[in-house]
Amino acid sequence: MTRVTSPAPKGGQQDRRGAREFLELQAALMTIEPKCANDQRFTGDTIDTEYLRSICFACPVLHECRNYARVAKPAGGVWAGRRWYEDKRTQVKKRTPAA
Ligand code: SF4
Repeated sequence: MTRVTSPAPKGGQQDRRGAREFLELQAALMTIEPKCANDQRFTGDTIDTEYLRSICFACPVLHECRNYARVAKPAGGVWAGRRWYEDKRTQVKKRTPAA
């Protein structure tokens, strides 16, 4: 995550998943700027999360960030040291019946 914005819209409507957790994260970010702010590595979808995880685990808002991501499952980026969306390729494999 680089900047906290409102939860992503889904299907043309505002997605309310994680609205409360989002407000808690926003409140926590009123007093600090996390190391992910303006760091493009946190918005990429191909960078290994191992190094970023060490940054997150020292972050003062890790708890709030993880709570939000766990509920909202942001569609991109690294939140609290990991990606939270499901890999589309994995979903396809799971739905394919065994031969
Ligand atoms: S836990 Fe990581 S992603 Fe979340 S605010 Fe802190 S540095 Fe950013």
